Amino acid sequence: MTIDFNKSGGLVPVIIQDNRTLQVLMLGYMNEEALAKTKQEGRVTFFSRSKNRLWTKGEESGNFLIVKSIDPDCDQDTILIKVVPQNVVCHTGSFSCFGKKYSKGFVYELQEKISKRIDEKTENSYTYSLYQRGINKMAQKVGEEAVELIIEAKDNNEELLKNEAADLLYHFLILLKSKRVLLEDIEEVLKKRDQL
Ligand code: AMP
Ligand code: ZN
Ligand code: ZN
Ligand code: ZN
Repeated sequence: MTIDFNKSGGLVPVIIQDNRTLQVLMLGYMNEEALAKTKQEGRVTFFSRSKNRLWTKGEESGNFLIVKSIDPDCDQDTILIKVVPQNVVCHTGSFSCFGKKYSKGFVYELQEKISKRIDEKTENSYTYSLYQRGINKMAQKVGEEAVELIIEAKDNNEELLKNEAADLLYHFLILLKSKRVLLEDIEEVLKKRDQL
């Protein structure tokens, strides 16, 4: 990979994107040294224009950006880096410097939240307690909610229909999580079906 650092006075803009959700997390700048250090260490180091020095994102907060891929744009004067963020990215405490609007959407955030509840074994969480009851119980809930949705679909109460659809979606996501399958994996399957 060759990056043209001369075009813009030694610094190129770097877009930081979440490796999994593709959410845009932040934008920074790199000089040649910052890029070399980033490649070498596998975590992102920028050149900070305000600090006027190399700045490893997370050096104070511990919220490092773990590098998954580094790609130049079409004319090699901008870099796109996909990362696994170790925590919130913005110093204001929000996950992304650009806010939620640019995330993949609410359902993906819900998937994330469910995943977190289970991985962190959150006490008093309905999600985690259902997970603990095992696959039969989780699968049964999906079945129940599907039946409830069917019943409401035959009726004419829009509110109840929406509620049962929400229940189904939520329990469906828990079931997927327990099988270590992501919504993104389901997307891949659907994308291959051209007869849709
Ligand atoms: P950190 O690199 O996360 O340890 O943060 C160190 C300092 O860098 C913070 O006190 C902020 O001044 C700044 N900073 C951290 N994250 C960002 C960000 N996403 N965008 C701009 N400045 C940041
Ligand atoms: Zn370009
Ligand atoms: Zn920010
Ligand atoms: Zn229900």
